Amino acid sequence: MTVPSLQFNDGHAIPQLGFGVYRVDPAETERIVTDALEVGYRHIDTAALYGNEEGVGRAIANSGIPRDELFITTKLWNTDQGADATRAAFASSLEKLGLDRVDLYLIHWPAPARDLFVETWRTFEEFRDAGTATSIGVSNFRPQDLDRLAAETDTVPAINQIELHPFFIQQGLRDYDAAHGILTESWGPLGHAVADVLGSGPLAEIAEAHGVGPAQVVIRWHLQHGLVVIPKSNNRDRMAQNFDVFGFELTDDEMARIDGLDTGTRSGADPDTLN
Ligand code: NDP
Repeated sequence: MTVPSLQFNDGHAIPQLGFGVYRVDPAETERIVTDALEVGYRHIDTAALYGNEEGVGRAIANSGIPRDELFITTKLWNTDQGADATRAAFASSLEKLGLDRVDLYLIHWPAPARDLFVETWRTFEEFRDAGTATSIGVSNFRPQDLDRLAAETDTVPAINQIELHPFFIQQGLRDYDAAHGILTESWGPLGHAVADVLGSGPLAEIAEAHGVGPAQVVIRWHLQHGLVVIPKSNNRDRMAQNFDVFGFELTDDEMARIDGLDTGTRSGADPDTLN
């Protein structure tokens, strides 16, 4: 199965479906990412915060999969913002991953009270210029943060990774991203293990109509909206289910019914206050 790619504003591309490893136990990460690679995922989303970059790195190294067939994302944690700390943190992430470059490096949160994300972004531009981060992007950025990057730096982020699922569809921020040439990537795409998205009314009915499970319907909803999506599972059968989403298509009416589940309520942290 070839996963479609979406084009970044920098000329590079990202596989639209990846595998997330938030809250994957570092001791289990090598096995779980190995399972994911065997299932067929080629795009892995980790972060310094998750404490499992080494496990991701070991799984990559042992897989025998050529580096250019993989797409690896990691993220800079808030306490490492600022030029010098960012350089040290990036070197540490590369070392833990056992890589000489990542495909995508993200500022994990704007952390507005620190007021360091503009300086941090200029340091990200150095990594992009040096080729150690092929593409650079942000996560959890609000329009006002993106406006500051546009006003004060030379690079528009390739992507903005944000909480996004049927209970929190983020239409306003998606529209902002699209208008500025920024892809949107959905974190917590199945509900972040908090919101009972998969158990909600219309999903079971829509899933039954297509002979698939509710998680497959939700992943399909992200894909058909042009979002990059990175579901997490510790379970190989569910990983495989979540990857088996290219054999059916939701109708416009089904897409609209899922859009209608929006409550406007987050399941995770708020970028206004997380620092
Ligand atoms: P998800 O929305 O991917 O949900 C994961 C939960 O859904 C787990 O409890 C998992 O359980 C369960 N699940 C997975 N597949 C199925 C299925 N087919 N049927 C039923 N249940 C299923 O949550 P995450 O918060 O992990 O988000 C995905 C990724 O996004 C993260 O791993 C991380 O990479 C990224 N992320 C980024 C953030 C950021 O600030 N930038 C914040 C949070 C996440 P089980 O494992 O038992 O299958």
